[in-house]
Amino acid sequence: MPLHNLHQHFIGQVKYRLKQAQRAVYQDLIDNWSKAINFPLELRESLNKDYPLEVKAEFFISKNNKAVKALITLADGQKIETVLLKNSDGRNSLCVSSQVGCQISCRFCATGQMGYKRDLEPDEIINQALVMARYLKSLNVSNHKITNIIFMGMGEPFLNYDNVIWAIKILNDSEGFNLGARHFSISTCGVIPGIQKLAKEKLQINLAISLNAPTNELRSKLMPINKKYSLEKVMATVNDYIKRTGRQVMFEYLLIKGVNDSLFMAKQLSQIINNHLFVVNLIPYNPTGKFKASDKKQIMAFKKVLEDNRVKVTQRNSFGQDIMAACGQLAGRGSRK
Ligand code: SAH
Repeated sequence: MPLHNLHQHFIGQVKYRLKQAQRAVYQDLIDNWSKAINFPLELRESLNKDYPLEVKAEFFISKNNKAVKALITLADGQKIETVLLKNSDGRNSLCVSSQVGCQISCRFCATGQMGYKRDLEPDEIINQALVMARYLKSLNVSNHKITNIIFMGMGEPFLNYDNVIWAIKILNDSEGFNLGARHFSISTCGVIPGIQKLAKEKLQINLAISLNAPTNELRSKLMPINKKYSLEKVMATVNDYIKRTGRQVMFEYLLIKGVNDSLFMAKQLSQIINNHLFVVNLIPYNPTGKFKASDKKQIMAFKKVLEDNRVKVTQRNSFGQDIMAACGQLAGRGSRK
């Protein structure tokens, strides 16, 4: 049985048992029910049989120690990746996958090139957090908590909307993993029905849109989904989202040399980023075979044009390239081949 149905095992039992079980899994981070020592042996055995907690994972650590990747083998043999990014400000962000592979086929993304296998179940999303949280705990260091969970790994979260939200609700639950709603972010290539649904959720989670180009012509070339959900439609939907939620929206823009990094395009971008709750996050392109990353100088100049046009800009530090763990590099394999 999947972990997200754990409560079913406790139907008809005293109430505190379920709470104890949830605490054992999500707070004490046990990886085997035999470690739930306050449970009768029979219960431990039945839980081990019905809700096994082991997650099969291989870990890769980047040279600078800032990125840790877990390559997880699922019950059916499919592989997914989850990446922990240790920021210098103390945040430990976990970048989780929502699907095995991806249907969107963005030209610059390794996951997009591997094709789509299937959606992840809620427990397969939750297990990514658990396996990394257990790993962090095992290190015995002071800064050992996952502080943010971002859906920027493999897959398009809004094409697996229900399971993503289900997993977030359990990870957010005070009886579960207990991570505050504001510490979750969903990144989408612009799947409009997903943005609309999120606007109506009571959860105060963050939304990020992968923009990557300022015109329909270029965006459709880089991200074929743009032919279905054009820039105008996505921006109109995001404006509605802001009217409903009052929350900031992040626009991700990866910079590819000679493709989307001209200063004219920066100017075009600043014209679409026309709401004070919009913020642009510039991402250096990570090699996936096809393109080249923009030069540092060009990135700075691009950023300056945005700032001169009063656009709020942040820059993403990408790390984990040496273990193929950086944005866009996840394709269900271990390290560089
Ligand atoms: N499908 C979702 C989430 C996965 S992609 C989405 O499209 O948002 C997460 C982020 O990584 C996106 O902003 C995407 O534009 C970026 N990305 C993809 N490939 C990349 C690459 N090669 N280098 C840098 N960023 C990349």
